[in-house]
Amino acid sequence: MEQYGRAFTRTEPLLEHLGLARDECPYRLGSGEGQPMLVPVSLAGCMRSGDWYDPVLLQVLPRAEEETAREGFCRDPVGDCDAAVEPGLLHKYGSRVLLITTDACAVHCRYCFRRGLHGRAIRLERGALKRIVRYVRDHADIVEVICSGGDPFMLPCATLREIVEPLLTIEHVRTIRIHTRVPIVEPLRLGAGIEELVNDIACRRTCVVVIHANCAQEITRDCRAKLQRLRAAGAVLLNQSVLLKGVNDSADELERLCRTLVDTGVLPYYLHQLDRVEGAWHFEVPVDSGLGLVRQLRARLPGYAVPRYVRDTTGASSKEMLG
Ligand SMILES: *Cc1c(COP(=O)(O)O)cnc(C)c1O
Ligand code: SF4
Repeated sequence: MEQYGRAFTRTEPLLEHLGLARDECPYRLGSGEGQPMLVPVSLAGCMRSGDWYDPVLLQVLPRAEEETAREGFCRDPVGDCDAAVEPGLLHKYGSRVLLITTDACAVHCRYCFRRGLHGRAIRLERGALKRIVRYVRDHADIVEVICSGGDPFMLPCATLREIVEPLLTIEHVRTIRIHTRVPIVEPLRLGAGIEELVNDIACRRTCVVVIHANCAQEITRDCRAKLQRLRAAGAVLLNQSVLLKGVNDSADELERLCRTLVDTGVLPYYLHQLDRVEGAWHFEVPVDSGLGLVRQLRARLPGYAVPRYVRDTTGASSKEMLG
């Protein structure tokens, strides 16, 4: 049987897999029209059976709330569309650029602010990549290139290598960073080729891999094993989370997450205040509550294990520190 690449794309089979009867659902399910459902079988494997409020399930299950508009929630809340300097390249923050390598993700998170990308079949054509490399070469203040998306680890290794190789020839690019959720939601997708690529980057520059876990339950045995291999290959591992109502909005859950990350060799980097994207309002935790949670974390954990609580704001020159 295939070890990865199988996913639930409809609500019924997922509910059935979890032993949940649709007519007993305590909340209203949605059609997933704005963003089709996509849940790797491996991610479903870490959900608790029979629990409508499982924190992993809540991140991926289409809800009726997605289809109702809310004041203040819009399509491009962080102004990304205005920050594109070349197709596929965002240059919002002086010293680093963000490269949209693909629109594909292994999972569709219901709160995602880039959800508009999914299904747009974004590919970096040779010409676009050339222009991007020229832009980075011409801007000596760019010291870091962030490969994002979508999820760069969804690309065939050879494709990701084609993107990264020319960047490694630019003297002022000191760090290649990869933003990915694959090690969490579908760890077995990462093969030896990716480890080699990470190792090749790490031998020449600093290679930072930022994963995205929101609760401790997501860090399964397979996930740990894969992260350890990436670390052995030379990657610096960081995690970003989004503060999500019903998922990780308690000090106990956040503490468990941070401790599990540190145990796995991953430092908590960011805890993001939810971006106010259309259809995600039911996940929002008020900033005041977030500040209280981070204060509790500081009392319970060593400093390096407490993520920075941040918000992305349109037009700012870095993320806004909340606490
Ligand atoms: C978050 C973000 C970055 C990276 O910011 P760091 O604070 O260095 O993690 C870069 N570009 C864009 C557009 C971003 O949203
Ligand atoms: S993995 Fe990241 S980019 Fe992809 S849907 Fe989830 S939050 Fe969005």
